[in-house]
Amino acid sequence: MGIKVTKFGGTSMADAKSMNQVANIIKSDAQRRYVVVSAPGKRFKEDIKITDLLYSCYYDIEIKGECTDSFNKIRERFIKIVEDLKLDYDIVPELDKVEREMKQYHSPAFCASRGEYLSAVIMSHLLGFKFVDAKELMIFSEEGDFLAEETNENIKNKFKNLKCVVVPGFYGADPLGNIHTFSRGGSDVSGAVIARAVKATIYENWTDVNGFMVTDPRIVDKPEKIDVLSYQELRELSYMGANVLHPDSIFPVRVSGIPINIRNTFEPTNSGTMIVPVVDDVEAKKRVVTGIAGKKGYSTVFIEKSMMNGELGFARKVLSCFEYYNMSIEHMPSGIDTMSIIVADSELAGKEDVLLEKIRQTVNPDHIEIKTGIALIATVGHGMCFNPGTSAKLCLALANANINIRMLDQGSSELNIIVGVTDKDYESAIKAIYHAFY
Ligand code: ASP
Repeated sequence: MGIKVTKFGGTSMADAKSMNQVANIIKSDAQRRYVVVSAPGKRFKEDIKITDLLYSCYYDIEIKGECTDSFNKIRERFIKIVEDLKLDYDIVPELDKVEREMKQYHSPAFCASRGEYLSAVIMSHLLGFKFVDAKELMIFSEEGDFLAEETNENIKNKFKNLKCVVVPGFYGADPLGNIHTFSRGGSDVSGAVIARAVKATIYENWTDVNGFMVTDPRIVDKPEKIDVLSYQELRELSYMGANVLHPDSIFPVRVSGIPINIRNTFEPTNSGTMIVPVVDDVEAKKRVVTGIAGKKGYSTVFIEKSMMNGELGFARKVLSCFEYYNMSIEHMPSGIDTMSIIVADSELAGKEDVLLEKIRQTVNPDHIEIKTGIALIATVGHGMCFNPGTSAKLCLALANANINIRMLDQGSSELNIIVGVTDKDYESAIKAIYHAFY
């Protein structure tokens, strides 16, 4: 029998009703043996996530030396969940201990981690599964770096004789016992790390949407769902802002070729999106474009110099200036005597003048300037290489929508086409590309 690692996000843990729903999903399949949970998330739009409330507790302790008021909101929420679940379990002593320890250990990571901790304790009572604390499993260095290989060996050993387990997501500990967390949304990473260690047949990531949509539903009304996605396509789309899954959760399952299935706790009959190591040609040919994602907030450093093309090492010298100021670049489309380097505004911020001066001194260009206000859009799909005319179709769609393309970059992998447009054209460009292919 295969092993399924299941991770449930914050909305799946938001109240007793959704936790019961989670329990039904787990009980309906005996392969669902390893369960990773988030802290309770929002029950409605204006609600506050438990993790955010816990960070407020941390700041209250910092300022006032205590957090009784802010912790009361958390206390009430967990007490209500346990009451509504009708569990024969008194959570009050556990809540008292958490409040005490938050003051004692007083670190943002320790405070934030308590949401996942309490969620997992409750789920272990509800399911009758063993609770295993993530601080015994996920190993971080004292500096807070996650140690993937040590953790993998550790979990393999610890889980040898354990059949059904609940683990809190999001955190782990260093060898001194100090708690560290992954970045926000990091329970996805915890689930992926466990899936790798137990050699799961599948990593199910249960959330509140039916999977990845072809594009952002805030821009295109009811976009189609992506049924199958490759790790490579996922990487491209996540990098460009499609954020159903934490980007760091891809590596652990990818190295061992474990598929990820994004599922909806509130619509469990929907098959969701399946993320697989490779999409075969038959699947790839079904569609030209798998997904479209993008981000605003980029600038171009435009450089012009006659005879640039013949100057050996020109590109290297220019790039060394970016490296000197610790900036990563995104793309580098070039002409014969021109070169454009696309950089995120966050990388450039405050360093514009020194960077231009350094480039001037290094390569003595005829002209150099920074053009701001660029949005990048990635159109991604393995199907592109089977369909000549994809870029033409995309460009025509943008032309018909009266959108000027400020940059175009198609890698030779033929997996994606990146276009740069003016910020104000971003939404219309996404719509135009979507409707050209869907
Ligand atoms: N609770 C954490 C957060 O809100 C981690 C997670 O839910 O994955 O970011």
